[in-house]
Amino acid sequence: MTAKPTLFVTRKLPSPVEIYLKEHFETTLNADDTPLSQEALQFALQNYDALLPTVSDTLSADLLQANISVKILANFGVGVNHIDVEAAKAAGVIVTNTPDVLTDATADIALLLMLSVTRRAFEVERIVRNNEWNGFSPVGFLGVGLQGKTLGVLGFGRIGRAVAERAKAFGMNVIYYSRSPKEYPGAKSSMAEVVRASDFISLHMPGGDENAGVFSAELIAEMKPTAFLINTARGDVVDEKALILALENKRIAGAGLDVFADEPNVPEQLRILDNVTLFPHIGSATFETRTAMGLMAADSLKAFFSGEDVPNRVT
Ligand code: NAP
Repeated sequence: MTAKPTLFVTRKLPSPVEIYLKEHFETTLNADDTPLSQEALQFALQNYDALLPTVSDTLSADLLQANISVKILANFGVGVNHIDVEAAKAAGVIVTNTPDVLTDATADIALLLMLSVTRRAFEVERIVRNNEWNGFSPVGFLGVGLQGKTLGVLGFGRIGRAVAERAKAFGMNVIYYSRSPKEYPGAKSSMAEVVRASDFISLHMPGGDENAGVFSAELIAEMKPTAFLINTARGDVVDEKALILALENKRIAGAGLDVFADEPNVPEQLRILDNVTLFPHIGSATFETRTAMGLMAADSLKAFFSGEDVPNRVT
């Protein structure tokens, strides 16, 4: 019997995934789910055949050297901005990701952020929990409705489109900016055009060097004073300092954020604001979705070690 390939899994995964991985690979798991240091990642890269990393693992060119033993990085997640993909390519390492299976869960969170920040969901829920509710009032806890408002989607890929579909079901008008032409009504020719016309802006482009700060101070300045920014993409696509300033000064109405520039550090200036809803990067966090993501990463690993075409290759 030939030995199974060795696999290092950087974070704890849903148990059906861990069971499946152990069946097919000589698997090292992270039972207590401690985020890995750069030294631990380096050790894994130099001593295993394969790595199953995720967004909390920074895999820079310093680590992805030609002499590493790992041949494939089967990333748990669709975004690979935490991996220096060019360095992986140069080192002869295949990178895969987990698209599609997380689209619905993440689009749901974008809508939840929109509803939550406009209907003040967490503020009012705390009032009930604290037994501070004085009863129904016609002018109590007034929020902002979604119906008839314009949603501007920036980055019109899988998740952007799924958010657009949901927004339509809520009675919203949808416009968007896409780099590559899409067969979908509502396309505009620039981000600024979308931003100026939108009551809600939802970001769905990948993070990483290419899009760092693409939702810039200049674009934030173009937002309507009544507009909300929703970000379930990556923290680095927004000029976070400019966003904080706009929120503090009530230059814009609010924001719903699932992702931040320096996770898990969320600036205190954001945490003390009332006009934001802040989530801890839970876009794909359902049991079903996280299980499907893990099994998808496992399929890429299995295909690679069986010499078959590897699905969901990024490199
Ligand atoms: P996708 O299908 O590849 O869509 C990304 C879209 O962004 C593509 O259509 C791409 O355009 C567009 N784009 C890239 N740069 C752009 C720019 N500068 N201006 C305008 N459009 C730009 O990816 P997806 O599956 O929808 O995922 C999108 C991102 O969501 C991921 O990369 C990940 O970072 C994030 N995400 C977050 C969570 C979470 O937990 N919060 C969960 C899942 C995903 P082209 O078609 O022209 O290439």
